[in-house]
Amino acid sequence: MDGTEIPALRRPPAIARLLQAPAAQALVAAHGRPLVVEALRAAAAEFRARAGAGAAEAEILGAAAQWLARHTRGLRPVLNLTGTVLHTNLGRAPLPPEALWAMTEAAGAADLELDLEAGRRGERDSHLEALLCHLTGAEAALAVNNNAAAVLLLLRALASRREVVVSRGELVEIGGAFRIPDIMHEAGCRLREVGTTNRTHAQDYAEAIGPRTALLMKVHRSNYIIEGFTAEVAEEELATLAHRHSMPMAVDLGSGSLHDLARWGLPQEPTVRAAITAGADLVTFSGDKLLGGPQAGLVVGRAALIAKLRRHPLKRALRLDKTAIAALVAVLRLQADPDRLAQRLPVLRLLLRPQAEIASLAERLRPGLAAVLQGAAEVAVTTCESQIGSGARPADLLPSAALALSPRRGSTADALAAALRRLPVPVLGRVTHGSVLLDLRCLEDPASFESQLPLLPGLLAG
Ligand SMILES: *Cc1c(COP(=O)(O)O)cnc(C)c1O
Repeated sequence: MDGTEIPALRRPPAIARLLQAPAAQALVAAHGRPLVVEALRAAAAEFRARAGAGAAEAEILGAAAQWLARHTRGLRPVLNLTGTVLHTNLGRAPLPPEALWAMTEAAGAADLELDLEAGRRGERDSHLEALLCHLTGAEAALAVNNNAAAVLLLLRALASRREVVVSRGELVEIGGAFRIPDIMHEAGCRLREVGTTNRTHAQDYAEAIGPRTALLMKVHRSNYIIEGFTAEVAEEELATLAHRHSMPMAVDLGSGSLHDLARWGLPQEPTVRAAITAGADLVTFSGDKLLGGPQAGLVVGRAALIAKLRRHPLKRALRLDKTAIAALVAVLRLQADPDRLAQRLPVLRLLLRPQAEIASLAERLRPGLAAVLQGAAEVAVTTCESQIGSGARPADLLPSAALALSPRRGSTADALAAALRRLPVPVLGRVTHGSVLLDLRCLEDPASFESQLPLLPGLLAG
């Protein structure tokens, strides 16, 4: 442990002695002794590893403070100026205040699985079920940890060791880790691919149905589009075919909007209600995509099938926690009042923000940014296009406006982007054609951006 190869003079000061220093005592007050000891050990080991580096006490204490800051900070709020409203790496949907209040209220003891009226054990999905049924026209509903979990539970409960028929054009990979064939495998199902990448017909499904078939499934292509000579089988037709063979038809909608977005002039995204109306027996969708809520996976559909999913042991492993349920109910309540949804639901409000409003915000912020970046970058206001994100309508872009930072000689777009990321509330833009674009669609609190600007020159120099 004590590195005999290091000359005695360069050996780092003993942890016990370091702990006596006033700076260490301040760290102990903030983090507790065990964690500070761990940080000091990590810092001292680093100095030991760098043979030849003098292990001054102050340096080790500084490094320990940095270690603690880095490893105990938890999630940091950031400004999403990427132009992707539902950005998976940035936590997807920003939650409305109603959801935050509900989460706080549920944080202590709550009637999560208690029927207060009867004084008996209750069911955690009961808090969501009536609202979800009202919003989708389904008979029953349940919630799990995310949509991937919803699909896994559905397949495992209804089609384990049997076949599921899916069109080749719908075998998608979403977000790098959710692949329909892999989920099928994990669920113990045999994937029966039918049709071709661009065209699948009802006859393809019909011919694939056999004694081992458990389910016909349709997957919303979400993050890519197929254009040209294409054909797919409509949900109605697929449901009719499934029912003729006495088996269910399931749809994985992904984003699954609860309202027709055309109502607000946005690109159309299939609604959950439309899938139910078309005859789908089960529909799965995410809580944190267009629904605008916390991470969750929802399954709605036939009561008998939902009951089967709810009884499955996997449901217990994938169940949603009380704060997520609380947030989800709050968001569903907002969803139930579509007339006011555009003001109250952050996701929808951001998607609907007019380009002119975003452009005038950009004009207002430009001089301040240009002043602090003097020498490092030229700043211009430009039009750009935002996207919904999380796979919703990849081809339909929303006209927006951005601050474009073009690096001057001696600087680069990557260096500018890195400095922006080092701000106390990191600013995330996108680098395109050698400049940094800050799409202001999602900047609802300009002060959070402006107040940090004086720090930028120092971060660029560093
Ligand atoms: C996003 C998506 C998923 C995965 O949903 P998560 O909530 O991220 O687990 C599954 N299927 C489709 C079609 C999707 O778009």
